[in-house]
Amino acid sequence: MSVTVQQHKNFIGGEWTESDGGTMEVFNPATGEVIAEVQRSTAADVDRAVEAAKSALADWLETTPKERMELLLKLADLLDENADELGKLESLNVGKPMSIAVDEMPTSADNLRFFAGAARTLEGKSAGEYVAGYTSMIRREPLGVVAGITPWNYPLMMVVWKMGPALAAGNVQIIKPAEQTPLTTLRFAELAQEILPPGVLQVVTGDGEPVGDRLVRHPDIRLVSLTGDVATGKLIAANAAGTLKRVHLELGGKAPMVVLDDADPDEVAEAIKVGGYWNSGQDCTASSRILVSERIYDDVLSKTKDVIEAMKVGDPADGDDVEMGPVISKDQQERVLGFLERLEPGATVVTGGSALGERGYFVKPTIVADVSQDSEIVQKEVFGPVVSVQRFSSDDEAIAMANDVRYGLAASVFSRDVGRAMSAARKLEFGTVWVNEHLYPLASEMPHGGFKESGYGKDLSMYSLEDYTRIKHVA
Ligand code: NAD
Repeated sequence: MSVTVQQHKNFIGGEWTESDGGTMEVFNPATGEVIAEVQRSTAADVDRAVEAAKSALADWLETTPKERMELLLKLADLLDENADELGKLESLNVGKPMSIAVDEMPTSADNLRFFAGAARTLEGKSAGEYVAGYTSMIRREPLGVVAGITPWNYPLMMVVWKMGPALAAGNVQIIKPAEQTPLTTLRFAELAQEILPPGVLQVVTGDGEPVGDRLVRHPDIRLVSLTGDVATGKLIAANAAGTLKRVHLELGGKAPMVVLDDADPDEVAEAIKVGGYWNSGQDCTASSRILVSERIYDDVLSKTKDVIEAMKVGDPADGDDVEMGPVISKDQQERVLGFLERLEPGATVVTGGSALGERGYFVKPTIVADVSQDSEIVQKEVFGPVVSVQRFSSDDEAIAMANDVRYGLAASVFSRDVGRAMSAARKLEFGTVWVNEHLYPLASEMPHGGFKESGYGKDLSMYSLEDYTRIKHVA
C-alpha cells in the first residue's frame, strides 16, 4: 500500500493547531516506512488545552445525563459508520492484522453505548436526617478536567475506555496518545468535532515528557488515567503527588494460563495461540506464562508448537489471512529479542526465537521451555510474541507459581472440573480470571483492572464510571 505522508495537528479548543515543538514521525511497523507526521507538542500546548478545557467545562457541567448519553450514542454511531476506515488505519499504524483491528471498532462502539446509558444511572444514598436538625444528602459529581494517557497496543480502544466514563460522568478530557500510534485518535477527534462542543475532548500529541508529564503535574487537572508500563505508572503516581491528583493506572501484566491435568490439550493449544500471540503478544493480559500439569505437559507442548508454527505471520497489508503482524517498533523488537538472548542456561527455545524477515519489526512466534520460576522471562513482561512454558505437579504448586510475580492483571485456568477451576479462580491474585478461556470475553459491563503492580482503578463497567466522579456531602 503506498501512503502519502500527511501532517496532523493538535486538537485544542475545537481548533487544529500547530505546536512550537515541531513535528515527529509515525511509522508503519510492518515496513518501517514513515506514514505520517504529528506535532511534537510542548508543555505550553498542554497548558493551552487545559485553559480550553476549563472554558468548556462550565457549559458541559450544565448538561444532563440524558444529553451526554445522546452525544455518546452519536459517537458510537460514528465509530460504526467509520469502522472500516478506522480499522484499516489502526492496522497500518500498529501492524495489527485487519481482522483484529476491525474487530476492535464494534467493541469500542459497544463500550461507548454502555457508558452512554450508564451516565443516567449514577445515584447516591437517600437523603436523610443523621444529625438532629440537619438533612444530609450525597452528590456524586464529575471531577472536572481529566487527562487520559494511552499506550500503543490498542490505541483507539484505550481512548474509548477513558473517554466513555470521563465524558459520561460530566468531565472534560485531554488525551495524549502514545507517540507511536496517534493516528486513529486524531481521526476520531476529527470525526467527533461535529458532535462534541469545543474543548470537551482534546488531543495533544507528543512524547511522554514533556506532554504526558505536564498533564500529570498540571494543578488544574484532577485525574490522570494511564494505560502503560509499570515503570511509567510508578513515575506518574510519584509525579502526581505534587498536586495530589487522582491517578488511575492500568499497567502491565504477566498473565499465567494454568492448565490442570484434566484439561483438553487441543483446546489449550488453540487458547495459547489466541492468548499468547493476539496482537503479537502486545497485550497486557497476554498468556505469557503457560503452567501445565506434568501429566499432560508433553502433549500440550507438542500440540501448541504445531499450532504456533502453522500461524501466518506477515504484513497485514498482504491479506486478511495474516494472523500475526510485527511488533510496534525497532526498539520493541530489540527489547523482545533481548529477553531471548539473555535466557538462562538450560532454557530451550521450542520454536521461534529470532527476528523474521528483512523489512519491518517482526519477531517469530516463540515458545520457551525449561525455565525457572525466578528467571527473567517468567518474571518480567516481554510484550511480544513470546510465551514460556513451565510444569507443575499439584494444583497448589500451580497457584503458588502463578501468583509468584509482581503483576496481577489477568490469569486463566483450564480444567473440566468446575470445582477445581472455581477453587483456582478464588486463589489466583489477578483482577480478571478466565475459566477455559484466555483474553475473551471483554464485556462493557465488567471491570478490567489489575491487582499488585498492575495498578489500580478499573476500566469499563460502573466501577470505572465511579472512578471519574467524586462524592460530596451536603447538609
Ligand atoms: P508506556 O508506559 O511506555 O507509555 C504509555 C504512555 O505513557 C505513552 O503515551 C507515553 O508517552 C506516556 N508516558 C511515558 N512517560 C511518561 C511520563 N513521564 N509522564 C506521563 N506520561 C508518560 O507504555 P507503552 O509501551 O506505550 O504500552 C505498553 C504497556 O502498556 C505495557 O506494559 C502493557 O502491559 C501496558 N498496557 C496495560 C493495559 C491494561 O489495561 N492494564 C492495557 C494495554 C497496555
